[in-house]
Amino acid sequence: MKTIAFLISFIVSFFSFGQKYTLIHSTKSLIGNHSIYHPLFDGMPVFNQFLKQNIFNREIQNFYSEIELTPLNRKLFSSDTILKVKSGFLNKNGTLIPVSAITIIDIKGKSYTLYINQKRKTIHHLSHNLNLKDTTISGTVFYPDPLSSSGKAYGGDFIDNNNKTNIYLNDELREVNLTASFKDSLFLLENKHLKIVNQSSPDIQPTAKTTSKFNFNRSETGFEEINALYHITRFAEYLKDSIGFKDIMNYQIAVDVYALNGNDQSEFINSTSPPRLNFGQGGVDDAEDADVLIHEYAHAVSHSAAPGSLQGYERLAMDEGFGDYWAAVYSKILNEFNYKEIFNWDGHNEFWEGRSLDHERTYEEGLEGNKYIDGELFAAMLMDIRDNVEDTTADKIILQSVYSWYPNMTFSDAIEQIMKADTLLNNAENSGTILWLACKRGFLTKNCENISKTNIWNLEIDYSMLNQGILSLTEPINNESVKIFTVEGKLIFSTILNGKELQLPKYSSGIYILQIGTLTKKIILKN
Ligand SMILES: [Zn+2]
Repeated sequence: MKTIAFLISFIVSFFSFGQKYTLIHSTKSLIGNHSIYHPLFDGMPVFNQFLKQNIFNREIQNFYSEIELTPLNRKLFSSDTILKVKSGFLNKNGTLIPVSAITIIDIKGKSYTLYINQKRKTIHHLSHNLNLKDTTISGTVFYPDPLSSSGKAYGGDFIDNNNKTNIYLNDELREVNLTASFKDSLFLLENKHLKIVNQSSPDIQPTAKTTSKFNFNRSETGFEEINALYHITRFAEYLKDSIGFKDIMNYQIAVDVYALNGNDQSEFINSTSPPRLNFGQGGVDDAEDADVLIHEYAHAVSHSAAPGSLQGYERLAMDEGFGDYWAAVYSKILNEFNYKEIFNWDGHNEFWEGRSLDHERTYEEGLEGNKYIDGELFAAMLMDIRDNVEDTTADKIILQSVYSWYPNMTFSDAIEQIMKADTLLNNAENSGTILWLACKRGFLTKNCENISKTNIWNLEIDYSMLNQGILSLTEPINNESVKIFTVEGKLIFSTILNGKELQLPKYSSGIYILQIGTLTKKIILKN
């Protein structure tokens, strides 16, 4: 009786003041610190309850969430390799159940955390293998795949044909330079971002050579290794050097391009140290298509930014969409042809249909319950943002927002985080556009009535016109009040604008705040 009373009082006080927490993970982003915690009971964690805390400049955001239990008909086997064991509780309908959380990897390479109760039943589990699809030096690479570079569709000479090559496919090979390693007179396929390894059957050892030339065609062993090394490295450099996320993916990920026993799927495993990527060889070898390489690597990126947050249906679908988004982004950097089609070479063929970010589905129409299909919707939303905001700005906002992600969040919650990232990184310059796009995709329904493209606040200003004292907008304004303030908030100009050009009085150069209607934008005036 005493125990029950104690439990009830615990439930009432859960997530309230005085509650103790244990840190699970913590990350640092461009604009803040992001930590995820379990609440403690009796000094032990409650594994299905979370507090995600985002600490920005002068603001703390707390998100509390609870994951429903997902039992699994699987026990611990003697053949399992145990990676980690922890004791704690699971909360089920207000009752705390003592469990052991055992993280394992089995002989087939499947990794789980099993939450086992005192009756030795697995009453909850987490899967650490994120599959691409449930159906589904100098060297030569595809750039990003033979269909995108040739502008062809799958068929004719451009087919898998049991991993054979031909003159047309060989024509699509491109010679590139890669960063690799040299040790004991051998060139090895590893650098600071990744290491080609053999960790999943078939048993094909990584290629090592005494010369620095790794020119293979797709029918030869080694081609997929070079393809993976090149594309993953280049993408990692884009995130770290081009858009400035220096601390993301601060470890060398292990990559097996001949894995999963010939299956047509690929996966990211986050429970091992270091985490792993496995690429299967069923159908078109997955590692021949940069979209597959980048999609899987993006799972690792999301895990690196927001570890411990990948729970709950929409959050899982978001991760798939996040991977598809970066696959498209990376494709566009290499070649714009059909870049919004995902898995151009691996999919869109007789093996499976691939995915596409070029569609008009909305969130309001409802989700389908398949995390890949719903992920396609999430990715299309991200791509809407990229289409309407400058490319690297969009990439930065989106990746920054992921640090704040938490378990059980929804697509709409993600928009809130994306707008938050834009506010802190860019003074909310793109938030009007994001709001408008999120309303169009049905991700948001509140405050959508008065949103149209003509009153979003990222109206472009023609700076060369500003030199003559004329402010030129890309869209005309109808009978709207226009005000200019100093950054200290002092009003220095006010008028009613009809049209798209406005003669300004003379100013000295500097930063000002332009307000059109209720919307504001930072402007830089030059003499
Ligand atoms: Zn995936």
